Amino acid sequence: MRAFRCRVCANPLHFENSVCVSCGSDLAFSRTEVDIVPIVAGRYTDADGATWHICRNLGLSGCTWLAATPGGQCVSCDLTRTRPNDADARGMRSFQIAERAKRRLIVDLDRLGFEIESRRTNPTTGLCFDLLSDTHEDVVTGHDQGVITINLAEGDDAYRERVRVRLDEPYRTMLGHFRHEIGHYIQWRLVEAAGGSILDRARALFGDERADYEEAVNRHYADGAPAGWPGSFISAYATMHPYEDFAETWAHYLHICDTIETSTAYGLAEPVALEDVVAFRDVVTRVW
Ligand SMILES: [Zn+2]
Ligand SMILES: [Zn+2]
Ligand SMILES: [Zn+2]
Repeated sequence: MRAFRCRVCANPLHFENSVCVSCGSDLAFSRTEVDIVPIVAGRYTDADGATWHICRNLGLSGCTWLAATPGGQCVSCDLTRTRPNDADARGMRSFQIAERAKRRLIVDLDRLGFEIESRRTNPTTGLCFDLLSDTHEDVVTGHDQGVITINLAEGDDAYRERVRVRLDEPYRTMLGHFRHEIGHYIQWRLVEAAGGSILDRARALFGDERADYEEAVNRHYADGAPAGWPGSFISAYATMHPYEDFAETWAHYLHICDTIETSTAYGLAEPVALEDVVAFRDVVTRVW
């Protein structure tokens, strides 16, 4: 994530700030400007004269983004199709953490120039999120044709850490889940939908995605990753099935880009134009 400063007093800001702790200005995140902007009387007017409003979910989920209409919600909140019941205190706590991760994911996708299409406008291939509490039923995190389901139990640090250690997944974080699941969506929209040489290339790199998924899952949890996997895979989970290889690689690509952006923003690395970089190895050797 890039570094932000208050436009009123130049104090450093965090991506989540809704108020400047130095000068007290109300703040919101402008997706179009990719910047945190000052809010006056609940509004912000941009350079083109358009007026923006604080997302109505600031109190509900801590959303700091701008919305196009008064009392409306922002693009990120718009993508959430289902959330926990107001009475589900545990679910609502994790819901805030999930929404925060989702906003970071959208900034990731914007940076890559991926056009996010909402399921509201395209009910067939558009994107939406079901952020579900497992308080009353079992929830499985996953992607199915544009619908991403997140088990909000992952917002509970103790639960997530327990699973992380049991499955030996160093990158198990809420944002990690969003980056992994969006990888499945990207694969579906940009690789499988494209077909032809793009699909051939993906099969050469990740394997044939038509391989039986259930069989792959059973094998993975019975036998674990094959010996010597670090030579050819980004994670042990990626060895399970070509779909998971793609999603894991995608998630790690976003982790790497984000790390580089943060390192650069705080003067720890030379600026790298990520859009010019074609290989992970390039990125790592140029930065460190
Ligand atoms: Zn300030
Ligand atoms: Zn919002
Ligand atoms: Zn997956």
